[in-house]
This record gives sequence, structure tokens and C-alpha cells, in this order.
Amino acid sequence: MTRASGLTEIGVRDALSASVFSSAAPCRRALVLGGSSEARLLATRIAADPRLQGVISLAGRTSAPLAHDLPTRIGGFNGVEGLTRYLLDERISHVVDATHPFAARISANARAACAAACAPLLVLTRPPWVMAPGDRWIEVVDNAAAARALGDSPRRVFLAIGRQGVADFRCAPQHDYVLRVIEPPNAGELPPRCEVIFGRGPFALNDEIALMRDRGIETVVTKNSGGALAYAKIEAARALGLEVVMIARPASGDAATTHDIDAAMAFLAS
Ligand code: NAP
Repeated sequence: MTRASGLTEIGVRDALSASVFSSAAPCRRALVLGGSSEARLLATRIAADPRLQGVISLAGRTSAPLAHDLPTRIGGFNGVEGLTRYLLDERISHVVDATHPFAARISANARAACAAACAPLLVLTRPPWVMAPGDRWIEVVDNAAAARALGDSPRRVFLAIGRQGVADFRCAPQHDYVLRVIEPPNAGELPPRCEVIFGRGPFALNDEIALMRDRGIETVVTKNSGGALAYAKIEAARALGLEVVMIARPASGDAATTHDIDAAMAFLAS
């Protein structure tokens, strides 16, 4: 069901048609920009804190998003202006940007909208992965550079980048790809020889090793998302001696940042 402003209702607790905040509101009204495991953990903490009211916002990329312990709104805000209006209309007192580290546009919008609405902003994110002994990483700046780093000779490549950006590998059609996704990708965006497999993390190390062995993977391409939940593919590549093309995070701006849920809770209570 589609609502006004391009927003889509997909069946989770939804807060679009009316404010999620009770009129007898306590003083803190938190907006959590979600789409990450950290956002779900923070939602659970906020829901358990009687000083706080909160709403989670999701982009609406997945058709069956995991449930959160807070009311959930789904869909874009229509840019900086829309997000600013939302913050003012909902009298949001604090914003936590707990989006995925590669979701650069919404994070930039959050910085601009929070500045415009005078709402304090904290970025809650995972520390990036760092190379460990035995790792064979080629670090690149983006998908296009990752496709180039695969080289001219055909390889069997595990694309662990999600479905967004897979079209960037169409310019390297000499390789055989295995792409792991949560939602079906757009077939027109795939490189010519690309097996699509479905899965939502966390993944176990033994399963990752088996997947890479079964498919004869030679190179893993991944974003430097960080965190424990997606780390098994890095450990598996290390165990098998495989090369990893590691895509660096986009620039993150100058907002206050933490990796710590307790620090995010302290910010919300401030
Ligand atoms: P993006 O490029 O930064 O954002 C594109 C647009 O999507 C934004 O301008 C905004 O639309 C809307 N949007 C994004 N996150 C939103 C949120 N939490 N609530 C409401 N609207 C949101 O984002 P993306 O890379 O497409 O990622 C979309 C979502 O998937 C994010 O929430 C992110 O946490 C999650 N995710 C991303 C990745 C990744 O690798 N990029 C991986 C896992 C999860 P308007 O301008 O209309 O407001």
C-alpha cells in the first residue's frame, strides 16, 4: 500500500499517518535512522527506558525487514528539506544516525537537516575491519576500483556487497561471480555470468568456508562494513588463503561518532 509522499507501508508497526509520540510525552524524542544491527540494539534499549520515546526510520529497501522494539516508519523523507520538516513537526530532540556505514546520502542529509532543525546528532557505527596476520587484502576506494582490481584474467569471485552496486561489475565480464543478496537483484544489473544466492547474516565461519570451497572462489569482494556479524567471510578468506578486495568506506563527515551503544544512550539522555 502506498501512501502520500512516496512512502510505502510494508506491514511493520508504522508511524506515518500519525505521530508515534504520545501527547503526554516525556522530554526526549529520539529519531533513530536505522538499517543496521546497531540500530536494532539501540531501539531495544530506548524502548526499555521510560525517559525516552523513539521512532526507527528505515529506507524500505527490504520487503521483510527485521522487527524493531520501537515504532517504525518506512520510506525516504524526500531529502534534507523533508527530513528537516519531520524533525520539526515531530519535535525530535535527538537524532542517532545508525545507518549502515555505506549509506552516505542519508547520513549527509541527517547532518544538514539536524543543523537546520537545531537537533543534536550522533552517528552510531561499527569500527571498520583492519587487516590481521594472514589476510591478503587489496584496498580500493569504490566498486569501480574493485572491478578493476580483479584484473584481466578470469577469476571466480564472491561478491559479498549486497545488490546495490553490482552493475559496477558488468565492466568486468571475464569473471564468474557469486552474488549473495537478501532481496532479488535487478537482472539487468548483473554481470553476464553471475550466480545469485540468498542469505541474511550472521553467517557461520564453517558455512562461509564451505560456500567458498564449493564454488571454487578465488577472490572475495566486500565493503568494509565492520562489525562481528559479517566478519566470518573475512575469516573464511583468511583460512583459505584467498585474496579479498576490500572497498573502503565513503567519507563520513564531521558529526560526533561513537561505536558504543551505552554512549548513544548517554547522548539521548543528555
Ligand atoms: P543512501 O544511499 O544513503 O540513501 C538513499 C536514500 O534512501 C536517502 O536519500 C533517503 O531518501 C533514503 N534512506 C536511506 N536510509 C534511510 C532511513 N534509514 N530512513 C529513511 N530513509 C532512508 O542509503 P542506501 O545505501 O541506499 O541504504 C538504504 C538503507 O539500507 C539504509 O538505511 C542503510 O542503513 C541500509 N543498508 C545499506 C547498506 C549499504 O551497503 N549501503 C547495507 C546494509 C543496510 P530521502 O532522501 O527521500 O530521505
